[in-house]
Amino acid sequence: RTVYLNGQWLPEDQAKVSIFDRGYVFADAIYEVTAVIGGKLLDYPGHTARLKRSLEAIGISMPVSEDELLDLHHTIVEKNGLDQGLVYLQISRGAEDRNFLFSDNLTPTLSMFTQVVPLLANPKAETGLAVISMPDGRWANRQIKTVQLLYSSLAKMEAKNRGADDVIFVEDGLITEASSANFHIITKSGVLVTRQLSNALLHGITRSSVLSLALTAQLKVEERAFSVEEAQDAAEAFITSAGAFVMPVVSIDGTSIGDGKPGKTTLRIREIYIEDQLSRAMA
Ligand code: PLP
Repeated sequence: RTVYLNGQWLPEDQAKVSIFDRGYVFADAIYEVTAVIGGKLLDYPGHTARLKRSLEAIGISMPVSEDELLDLHHTIVEKNGLDQGLVYLQISRGAEDRNFLFSDNLTPTLSMFTQVVPLLANPKAETGLAVISMPDGRWANRQIKTVQLLYSSLAKMEAKNRGADDVIFVEDGLITEASSANFHIITKSGVLVTRQLSNALLHGITRSSVLSLALTAQLKVEERAFSVEEAQDAAEAFITSAGAFVMPVVSIDGTSIGDGKPGKTTLRIREIYIEDQLSRAMA
């Protein structure tokens, strides 16, 4: 097949995208699939309109004009002699060093390929399909450390735009976790409260180490969900992750936690965590 990548027509095995492309690292990309019958594009205006809506929704600018886009579709069909099948088009935000926060000057990555599919003479149209039902778990399996990070990335950009450092996500009135870390509080009576493990949050490795160190240090630990209000009213709060270790959180939505400074117990846990890790670090 001849495929399209950023202004070039290439044999399919020569089209290469950076491993730093945000489509690859954050699923920060949108796509469209348009059917082709007899070399002609079906429902093309609908697909381009949705493409534009998707791009606008996540703040990627359209890398080509409408005329160029139509021309690319015609050309890819022609170059591949496609009679019946699909044109796949993907636009990612572009490539840069991995960071949930992205730059506004990235060059989007535009790639296209065709697939031959017998759309009209589909044998399943004769027999019909058997289906199973499942809970709609799309975006809901956060225990899996997937690269499906577009929402987290956009949320972190929103935090930055609103003068904050990070986001904590809330579901059914209860905090799940931070955008890329687990979230914990220390109550006024000195209990470390952290949400219990489930598919609502990533099972943090740092969280797990911190909990065992807290128990060793005779801190009381409760694993349960809690609300934003309870967190705002707590004595201290902190997040944990491989990159942040134990990081104090001092306000939520502008409301100070405790005296609005990093908590004493939090900083002690940070010290203990770092000390323990350094003593066990592997060569
Ligand atoms: N929760 C989310 C959504 C994360 O992305 C991360 C780490 O990247 C964590 C929690 C913390 O996990 P860990 O302590 O294993 O780094």
